[in-house]
Amino acid sequence: MSKRIELSPEEWKQSLSQDQFQVARCGGTERAFSGAYWNKKETGTYHCICCDAPLFSSKTKFESGTGWPSFWDGISSEAITTKQDLSHGMVRLEINCSRCDAHLGHVFPDGPAPTGQRYCVNSVSLDFKAG
Ligand SMILES: [Zn+2]
Repeated sequence: MSKRIELSPEEWKQSLSQDQFQVARCGGTERAFSGAYWNKKETGTYHCICCDAPLFSSKTKFESGTGWPSFWDGISSEAITTKQDLSHGMVRLEINCSRCDAHLGHVFPDGPAPTGQRYCVNSVSLDFKAG
């Protein structure tokens, strides 16, 4: 795993769009069915919009019907970190890029086999690379 990346909010603002900054650095959520990737079916890898770390493979993507890109696993056990999120009166597990701590979305225990997990991710936190 490469070295962790830590930048100030001002530094992130320079390389991210306003939407990307709002979601990836401030924990925002894009509107369902509004993102670029919820319906994407091509083969490839989804990278962190902030630091380019590979996070998800199209091999684990599935149609969740939620309007957000959904995966049943991360690309590796080291790529993604989870932490408890008690905001909005809910108990959820937030998922973050382990390299730069970008907010990706949340993980829920109602996904398909083999993991039973549903990684619910904002398109705007991801950068798809075909191949
Ligand atoms: Zn990252």
